[in-house]
Amino acid sequence: MKVENDNGCSWINDLNPRTNIRSLLSNEECDWLIVGAGYTGLSAARKLGQINSNLKIILADAQLAGEGASGRNSGYLVDTTLNDGFTSNKELQNYKKKADIYSLGINVVKKFIKEHQVNCDWNESGKYFASSKIEDKKILDNFSNTLAKLGFEHSILGNKELSDRLGSNFYNIGLYTKGGILLHPGKLVRAMVDTLPSNVFLYENSCLLNWYKNKDFISCNFKNGIIKTKNIIFATNGFLKSLGIKSNYNFPITLTASMTRRLSDEEFKGIGEPKEWGVLPIRPMGATIRMTKDRRILIRNTAEIHNPYKMSKSELDNRSISQKIGIKKRFPQLADDIIQSTWSGVVSRTRNSSQIFEKIDNNVFVAGCYNGSGIGVGTLFGEQIAIKASEENTKEIETIEARNKPTWLPPQPFLNLGVKTRLIYERLRARSEI
Ligand SMILES: Cc1cc2nc3c(=O)[nH]c(=O)nc-3n(C[C@H](O)[C@H](O)[C@H](O)COP(=O)(O)OP(=O)(O)OC[C@H]3O[C@@H](n4cnc5c(N)ncnc54)[C@H](O)[C@@H]3O)c2cc1C
Repeated sequence: MKVENDNGCSWINDLNPRTNIRSLLSNEECDWLIVGAGYTGLSAARKLGQINSNLKIILADAQLAGEGASGRNSGYLVDTTLNDGFTSNKELQNYKKKADIYSLGINVVKKFIKEHQVNCDWNESGKYFASSKIEDKKILDNFSNTLAKLGFEHSILGNKELSDRLGSNFYNIGLYTKGGILLHPGKLVRAMVDTLPSNVFLYENSCLLNWYKNKDFISCNFKNGIIKTKNIIFATNGFLKSLGIKSNYNFPITLTASMTRRLSDEEFKGIGEPKEWGVLPIRPMGATIRMTKDRRILIRNTAEIHNPYKMSKSELDNRSISQKIGIKKRFPQLADDIIQSTWSGVVSRTRNSSQIFEKIDNNVFVAGCYNGSGIGVGTLFGEQIAIKASEENTKEIETIEARNKPTWLPPQPFLNLGVKTRLIYERLRARSEI
């Protein structure tokens, strides 16, 4: 099967088309092969290249670098995510471990954009968790307790404040966290492609088909060549399972999103000229919705088990209808035909929402599975897996390794059945919020 990204992603289409694209056309040997060029693989390559300037590093991607989930996400660089409960001290400690990783993730992205003077529309705007259902206040009160105990600045808001800030009357209860950044994911990942060290050789449109390990090297088969490498890092995130990596611990989920055209002056005035904002749902399957800096509205309101390799145009069109309804619910005054494009992307999930960061064999490493929050964590895990693979240690690695490890998943067909049932249940629970 071939990974085939659709060409509908607005973030990617905002960028200049790439010109310097090379594919693997013959056999190669190298010291390090990194498979997958999203935030994780690009950051691993950048760090490895810095640590080992005399070694040959190959970075290979099945498509164009950065044009998988890393260029197609909603652009929330999060400091916190919403989880029900967290009432006991043990749960609070677990939440803190997670938040510590998010915090390191924000720092590493901040450092990267400072060092390379990257313009990725960085906005420390904070973020909202909101719902139209007033009964969701219970969840927010619990969440607020957790945030207060851990020292995260936040406030609970009602309909009037939310309506003033968002320009939509839809939400009746919300929680604003001061931390959290909104950015342009395409610009961020493109900067990571453009700043790869000179000892990193990037091969694109080059899909790893299969691999095996000998005593002294790892042999990797691509369509037009074989790469023999001494060490390998897998950074294929939603496609780890398809390469047989940690198969019993992760599974892919396909998300779709739509972006409107830029609102006209009149339309923007009509919704109160709000500043850039981002809302995350309180009920897991509700819509993520964002007003961009340049007055476009992004909405993501699907998550499903789907063939991860491809989504057809007609399947995207179907999902776009649900996204049009989602926008209409929130902004009834806007025209019906303002969606400009719709796209899909694949994320990786684990059962307990923990991430994968591991040496799985001698000279074989893997980082991934950010459960939908991979901008900061992917950048962090990419850099740190490169450091771990170079047999060095850091405080960041200690923090990452102190997290709860992913738990075992049931085999197929029970896994898909379980996940599908859960998604249907969550979708029903969130039907007003989609
Ligand atoms: C619609 C959507 C919204 C999201 N919103 C957010 C958000 O707001 N905030 C946030 O933090 N995260 C968000 N995410 C998640 C985030 O995008 C991911 O966690 C992150 O991009 C993971 O980065 P990565 O480098 O590990 O994986 P990816 O970016 O998926 O990169 C993996 C790469 O591996 C390549 N690959 C796969 N198989 C092979 C193979 N066999 N051979 C060679 N290459 C291969 C792929 O082509 C791909 O480029 C969202 C994701 C989606 C899809």
